[in-house]
Amino acid sequence: MSSIDSQNIFLSPRSIAVIGASEKPGVGKAIFSNIVNGYRGKIYPITPSNEFVSGLKAYKNVLEVPDQIDLAVVATPNKIVPRIMEDIGKKKIKGAIVVSAGFKEVDENGAKLEREVGLIGKDYGIRIIGPNCLGIMSLSEKSMMNATFLKITPRYGNIALVSQSGAICAATVEDAIAQNIGFSKVISMGNKVDMDENDILELLAYDEETKVIVMYLEDIHDGRRFMAITKKVTKELQKPIIVLKAGRTPEGAKAAMSHTGALMGSDETFDALFKQCGIIRVDTMQELFELATAFSKQPVPKLGSGIAIVSNAGGPAIISTDACSKYGLRMADLTESKDVINKLIPPHGSSRNPVDIVGDADYGRFEKVIHEVLSNSNVGSVVTMCTPSATLNYDDLARTIVKASKATGTGKTMVAALMGLAEGLENKQILSDGNIPHFMYAEPAIRTLEAMYAFREWIEKPSDEPKQFNVDPSKVRQVFSRVRAQSRTNLLEEEGYEVLEAYGFSILKKRLAKSEEECITAIQDIGYPVVMKISSPDIVHKSDAGGVKIGLKNENEARLAFRAIIENARMYEPEAKISGVLVQEMAREGKETILGAKFDPVLGQLIMFGLGGIYVEVLKDVVFRLAPIEGSEAARMIESVRTIKLLEGVRGEKQHDLNAIKESLQRLSQLITDFQEIEELDINPLIVLEEGNGVRAIDIRINLKKSDSL
Ligand code: ADP
Ligand code: MG
Repeated sequence: MSSIDSQNIFLSPRSIAVIGASEKPGVGKAIFSNIVNGYRGKIYPITPSNEFVSGLKAYKNVLEVPDQIDLAVVATPNKIVPRIMEDIGKKKIKGAIVVSAGFKEVDENGAKLEREVGLIGKDYGIRIIGPNCLGIMSLSEKSMMNATFLKITPRYGNIALVSQSGAICAATVEDAIAQNIGFSKVISMGNKVDMDENDILELLAYDEETKVIVMYLEDIHDGRRFMAITKKVTKELQKPIIVLKAGRTPEGAKAAMSHTGALMGSDETFDALFKQCGIIRVDTMQELFELATAFSKQPVPKLGSGIAIVSNAGGPAIISTDACSKYGLRMADLTESKDVINKLIPPHGSSRNPVDIVGDADYGRFEKVIHEVLSNSNVGSVVTMCTPSATLNYDDLARTIVKASKATGTGKTMVAALMGLAEGLENKQILSDGNIPHFMYAEPAIRTLEAMYAFREWIEKPSDEPKQFNVDPSKVRQVFSRVRAQSRTNLLEEEGYEVLEAYGFSILKKRLAKSEEECITAIQDIGYPVVMKISSPDIVHKSDAGGVKIGLKNENEARLAFRAIIENARMYEPEAKISGVLVQEMAREGKETILGAKFDPVLGQLIMFGLGGIYVEVLKDVVFRLAPIEGSEAARMIESVRTIKLLEGVRGEKQHDLNAIKESLQRLSQLITDFQEIEELDINPLIVLEEGNGVRAIDIRINLKKSDSL
């Protein structure tokens, strides 16, 4: 069934059967009376015990209903849900909302019951929302339907609320009512036996009544599909998605083979996913409401435009300016408005941004100055920042701001931060009704604007496709099968280089030597100085085993290094199988970075970049993305490490080759996309040379998935 069909069935059904409808207090009664209240289609109460429910003719089961039914709402005890689902299937009803609880969320028996319900749904082609959910609501007059057992019905608005938790859903709806925030749809997903966040997003993508989507999520079923759908919703359809995702706290370090594995918590991966999809992530309910309101009521400011702050006091103006700089927002240049503003304010005010119109300002002065900054073409958004004063009536000021916002019609964003609790609620009501997001203080107002500017950047960012390099996958396949034939999953360093070479990475000259003499012969080809490293499938971290000697300048040093490496390895791991010593050309001076990859069962291959070397786990200056990545995303990754300055060159250093890092990231992205069997991969370090000289991979670790997990 296409999403458009399920959109009709769930969001605007022509008829609903309520199984478990009742007059006795409880969920069956609550949901039935909510539906009756406002729904214009046909309603069929289904109950074995009554002939009528609230005056409507009842049926013993859906099969007895003579007409066709679009949607079934199931509010019966859990045990009989499978039987009910069979009836729904036989009646050819295509959608069911199961609000009954007592499934996966309670115990293994419940989980079994839930699987049964899911299977029956699949057999008959019934799409299911729930079980263990609150139901769903459609709130426009046209398609009014409250199929939830919530206590109160919110008002209509353009925000869709989707929640995995019923409790959060109920609380959000009540708090929204209190804050005068309306919804287009409210969807409680519950246990997601069938319809998950991706299906729900598909329903909402083309819903004309929905302008902003707000989600509370605990987990995601299919990261790849989530990425495709959310990108379409945010970028193509330009609907912001604001997500409150539970579980920001780290899970604690897991035992991992690679640096990448050790650095990747589930939260980093979700952050990466959200960034790549243009999703706005918030940490608190407060932020969720603030952003949802702002996006639903105000236009998103234009790219490249700045913020103008208009205030009646110096202190608050400075606080707002600080907040702008904290969030990296640009203050608009108001030079062109200087003369006009100077005529409107006393001489000790300031016509520069932040505009200080001084403490004796009344709403009239605010009005004129706001009018002037709105007409300045550098200004994309205006914050009216205000402190109580005897000359200022807040209610009048609120009306002034609303009037200015309505008058512009130029698509400029207006928010207000009015300090002073004792000024009462009236001014807030006026702002709310006039579609002006209002805050008590500057910080959340500016934070909100930051999210809006970032969204504008996201939608205007040109989309590029992941680059396809000319590479040799068959070579990689050969290496992997050779490794597997030896019942191994981890590659030796030299095998790793074969893989990297096949994907066009620049690596250094190297040879595996099985004896001291072979070592010396190898060096004749490579040339001093050299590096020597232990090669053993049983030693993963070579330095830890005293297995790396660098900067060897002559034959004597090389011979001593060979012996020391073998001896150290034997001491470190007496049982280790030793393949020999890898002799490698010494890399030129450069900065050590790390490139990594890790497979995640939900999200697929993730790619990592950061500052490398032995301190990676301490500094944790790394970023993740889902592969494949485009060039622009690779560039964004490089820019977003905190220590980027070191790569750009400090104190007279030349800039390092950032372009070569970008290319390496794209090549790695192609490799891990082509080979999903790579479980973990570290290039640590990738030495970055000065601009124009490229990068060198001087260590590589690849770990394959166990074959039974392929
Ligand atoms: P491991 O990470 O297993 O301990 P590496 O091969 O990464 O072993 O070597 C440890 C460190 O030695 C590297 O981080 C790098 O600083 C240095 N090193 C290794 N190989 C070279 C090389 N070819 N040229 C210069 N420095 C090297
Ligand atoms: Mg290393």
